[in-house]
Order: sequence, then structure tokens, then C-alpha cells
Amino acid sequence: MSFSVVEILGVPVAALTMREAVEQAECWMDERRGALIATANAEMIMNATRDEELFEILRSADLVVPDGAGTVWAARHLGYEMPERVAGYDLSQELLRRAPQKNRRVFFFGSAPGVAEKAKQKAEELYPGISVVGVRNGYFSSEEEPEIIQEIREAHPDLLLVALGVPKQEKWLKKHKEALDVPVSIGVGGTLDVMAGTMRRAPVWMQKAKLEWLFRALLQPKRAGRLLALPKFVFRVHASKK
Ligand code: UDP
Repeated sequence: MSFSVVEILGVPVAALTMREAVEQAECWMDERRGALIATANAEMIMNATRDEELFEILRSADLVVPDGAGTVWAARHLGYEMPERVAGYDLSQELLRRAPQKNRRVFFFGSAPGVAEKAKQKAEELYPGISVVGVRNGYFSSEEEPEIIQEIREAHPDLLLVALGVPKQEKWLKKHKEALDVPVSIGVGGTLDVMAGTMRRAPVWMQKAKLEWLFRALLQPKRAGRLLALPKFVFRVHASKK
């Protein structure tokens, strides 16, 4: 598959549709490639400008999809084509939906105790026949890490969804990529929380109005400070325009 890549503040974001992102991930699962997929919103790209390790991880990721209206806006503002937003939550659901028919094995790792189990139940309800081969919460000490890696390895998933928040999930995946030996891994942030119903997603009209960021800020006021990343992002992207 080929698609162009747009550099936004140095982060290479793929200009592709949801359908193409799904096809690419499916292809890597078939090839058992060992691919890392990141979902970049404005906040993640801003984090990457300050966090060298995250920046390098995103630069070497197999695929960075445009998660968020800010990322799509930035690409277009820089004069590139960016067909649509590919949100991590939506990409995960598309892959889970296809999983039963393709006999994929899926592992959910991350979020508070109990959340991944609930997300599993939800997946079994929504996608009958799905094989969720393991779940593990995302609160662990470094001593527990080898056991978690072993657990994931032994479950032999085709798809690993990791919800530890940004940049922990990206760093964890990069560090343990070889040991995990999973065909496709994605850092998915709040996806398991949304699936489990512990966190709500913005209503569709707000998503369409490109206001999902506002919804999240209103719902989780402790995140409101993080909203400042948005105007900073707009400023930085504009300043980077040649
Ligand atoms: N999380 C986790 N372990 C941690 C920190 C966070 O499993 O050490 C989970 C948290 O419970 C939530 C998810 O990571 O389900 C995403 O967290 P947050 O919304 O803070 O991250 P972001 O929006 O930056 O991806």
C-alpha cells in the first residue's frame, strides 16, 4: 500500500482514509509484520516537540494516523491533502469489527482495573465471535513488567490495543516491541474507557463540528489545562509554514 506522508512539526502523519488505514493494518496482521501504529492528535504532536524520545518513536512508527481535527487542519493549512480524520477509537472499532471473520486474536492492555474486562464484554456483545485472548490493567510496577510481557506473548494476539495514555503507551510499545512479538500494536489512549462506558465520547454532532476536544475538556476539567496545547499548536504550525 502506498500513501503520502505529511510532516507536521516534524511528525510524519499519513494522509489516508479510514478504509486505507484498516487495510494497511489488516495487511500487517496477515504478514505478521510487527508494526506500531500511533494516533496523533494536536496534543501528541505538541508533546513530541518537547519530548525527544516520543518524537523519535513517532518518526520511526510504521504508521501515524491523523487523529483529531487539529491534525487534519494542520496538514491542510500546510497545503497538503488530508482526506479525513482517522480517530484511534474508530480505527480500533473497525479492526475489532473485522476480527471475528478474519479469526484475529485481540489483547486489551491498559486503563484502570476492571476497565479492560468491561471493554472485552462490550466487544463480545458488539462483535459476536470475537476472540479477546487477554486483558490486563495498565497500573503496574516495573517488577511486574516481565510477567505482563510474558502474558501477552503467550496469548499470541494478532492485534494489541494499549491504553496507558500518551506518551507512556508509545514508549512502552517501542521498548518491548521485539519481546512482545505482536503483528500490530496500537496506542489507543481512552479507547478502552469509552468501550467500557467509564468515559463518554462526544456526541456525533460535536465530532462533526470538530469540537470533540471541547467535550473532553468539559467532561474532565483536570484536562482543561491541556487545552492550551491547541492554540500553541495552531501557532507553531502556522509559523512552520514556508
Ligand atoms: N492509564 C494507565 N496507566 C497509567 C496511566 C494511564 O492504564 O499509568 C490509562 C488511563 O486509565 C486511561 C488511559 O490510560 O484509561 C488514557 O489516559 P489519559 O486519558 O490520561 O491519556 P491520553 O488522553 O493522553 O491518551
